[in-house]
Amino acid sequence: MRLSIPRFWRKRFDYYSVRISECLDCGRKFYPRRSICPYCRSRNVKVVTSRGVGEVLTYTVSYYRLEGYEEVIPKVIALIKLVEGPVLIGELVDVDISEVREGLKVEAVLRRLKSEDPAGLIYYGIKFRPIVG
Ligand SMILES: [Zn+2]
Repeated sequence: MRLSIPRFWRKRFDYYSVRISECLDCGRKFYPRRSICPYCRSRNVKVVTSRGVGEVLTYTVSYYRLEGYEEVIPKVIALIKLVEGPVLIGELVDVDISEVREGLKVEAVLRRLKSEDPAGLIYYGIKFRPIVG
């Protein structure tokens, strides 16, 4: 995936925090964000920032070499259920693969997304690490 500077800037809040939608009529939260509630069809929806805390529902280990992302192989990609309810896909960091399991409690952290590009930019984004203690 190629991230142009303007595109990255426009979407920077989505890369630097976990932002979900909340329906102000039925109170449910969902992700990906939408302007219409998938549960009650209300358009009375706002964007809220998740606490970024959740648990692993399931996961997979990827050995695929994607250009610019070679630094971390293998990658652990997990389906994560946030405490607010929505489920999203995220990369796990700071964890030994043998310790990854269903139900592992994780929290969002800001990490380097990919190696430096030819323009000298370093992109950061959200990944998830185990909550210790
Ligand atoms: Zn609703």
